[in-house]
Amino acid sequence: MPRIRTVKPEMFSDEKLAPLAVIDRFVFVALISMADDTGRILDILKVIDAYVFPMTSDSSEQALETLHRLGIIERGLSSSGQRVIQIVNWLKHQRIDDRPPRPYIASELRARIYERDGYRCLTCGSIERLSLDHIIPFSHGGQDTEENLRTLCTPCNSRRGARCES
Ligand SMILES: [Zn+2]
Repeated sequence: MPRIRTVKPEMFSDEKLAPLAVIDRFVFVALISMADDTGRILDILKVIDAYVFPMTSDSSEQALETLHRLGIIERGLSSSGQRVIQIVNWLKHQRIDDRPPRPYIASELRARIYERDGYRCLTCGSIERLSLDHIIPFSHGGQDTEENLRTLCTPCNSRRGARCES
């Protein structure tokens, strides 16, 4: 299933891609969008063409051959015997966010924290735009527990977040 992917600005000046014809580059971007999280696409021309050129009889056949010849993609068989395309240097072209989805803080817990903290930001005392802050950040293993959660207003929370990043 095609995913929402990013195309990095550097792609347009990539030394391998930059000299290519428009259609080759276009097909390459389409492959990025079709690829799974490891940069693979089933190598079935009909399927690729139906995705890339749904309304015309254009074909990606030549572009795929060019991309293959230049080593931008590899073509081979998967362990289950399917013909696959592998985008070379996939991670260079794509950053995969494989962090597990962040669980939603249960609404009762949320209400309990707000109540405990008096419905006020613990940093500035504001009663507006309240949000929950993880004292130990979620990304550092902090849990959704009463001990690790506190009430901050959104501005204080994002200032704190910015500090943690740096
Ligand atoms: Zn605040």
